[in-house]
Amino acid sequence: MSNLTSWVPVASDSDFSIYNLPYGIFSAHGNGPRVGVAIGDQIVDLAALADTGFFDLWTTQRDVFHQSTLNAFIGLGKAITSAIRLALQEMLCDADTTLKDHAGLLVAQADANMHMPVSVGDYTDFYSSIEHATNVGMMFRDPANALLPNWRHIPVGYHGRASSIAVSGTPFHRPKGQVMPKDATAPVFQPSGRLDFELEMAFVVGKDTQIGDTLTTANAEDYIFGLALFNDWSARDIQKWEYVPLGPFLGKNFFSSVSPWIVPLEAFDDFRVPGPAQEPAVLPYLQYEGDRNIDIKLDVIITPEGGEENVVSRSNFQYMYWNMAQQLTHHTINGCNIQIGDMMASGTISGKDESSYGSMLEIAWAGSKPVTLSDGSTRVFIKDHDTVTMRGYAEKDGKRVGFGEVSNKVLPAR
Ligand code: MN
Repeated sequence: MSNLTSWVPVASDSDFSIYNLPYGIFSAHGNGPRVGVAIGDQIVDLAALADTGFFDLWTTQRDVFHQSTLNAFIGLGKAITSAIRLALQEMLCDADTTLKDHAGLLVAQADANMHMPVSVGDYTDFYSSIEHATNVGMMFRDPANALLPNWRHIPVGYHGRASSIAVSGTPFHRPKGQVMPKDATAPVFQPSGRLDFELEMAFVVGKDTQIGDTLTTANAEDYIFGLALFNDWSARDIQKWEYVPLGPFLGKNFFSSVSPWIVPLEAFDDFRVPGPAQEPAVLPYLQYEGDRNIDIKLDVIITPEGGEENVVSRSNFQYMYWNMAQQLTHHTINGCNIQIGDMMASGTISGKDESSYGSMLEIAWAGSKPVTLSDGSTRVFIKDHDTVTMRGYAEKDGKRVGFGEVSNKVLPAR
């Protein structure tokens, strides 16, 4: 695959090149939600294309393209969805005229509403950036022993709330809850004063397992359909008071957000990089071969109401200590089942210094180092009416594969 170009115009800085072809659920022009593939600033209407019989060679289940989630399409299995992807890529290439004559199959992204791409049965959030875990440990616990003893042995995670994950563009209200004010002796109930984002990547499970099944690091990626940007919105004051001893609860479950386009895992084949050395050596079931990290540049932007964009972090998915194959293997090693549509988030992705930290908690170091925005205002956490936007893409040798964005506005507590 080299130097492919499409007859659909694709700007050089577009995330949606012919090497990408991410899947999403969209509606436009009075039609109901359906499966689409993004290219340039357009969407290929796969439901309309299916109705022409185009996909009959691979599946006669035309209805999977007319669903309001990708679950049924993903359920066709990678053998079929990857073949469909290659056929679409070929059809969108310059030389091919199959689709050119069916202009109605293209919908401008500007004319479309994007919907939650998958029905998420279960959501798990990991904690797999060593820089993030160290920073949080220093602030929440003991700076001398920031990393707990289990951290280098286990891809630490927790089960989150699937039903409060919403698609980019969905606004939400600042959560309220119990917090323990500094130097107080009793908690108070109030709107969170420490609302934060967490820059994460999520992967969507592409294949079921049964209770009792276990995966290996060698086959775990066969169970990953694709990736999305993920913001694990967090209320730090609620979290700090409630998290002992069972971990995240109301400080996390009020809202999470995900980008609308799911990029198939194979679109990142050319962007693989080695992960960091793991010391001490992990247990045999977590050992792996090959390059399992991915070089994906990630930005976090704060936009005050009516104001300009302010980039507050530039990080990279390749910083992850634990990779997705290890996370999924660990998740199933006790016999826990996984299902198509399950969402697994990476944990906050922080780099080595504050320019690449993945949360305001770290960037402003628990409120002690305010960030000044271009309008002169300062932030230590996220204010009402702020919009937080995350963007991400991989780029190499003129090929760009990205996600677009996950962007959500914070409304006042109600
Ligand atoms: Mn998180």
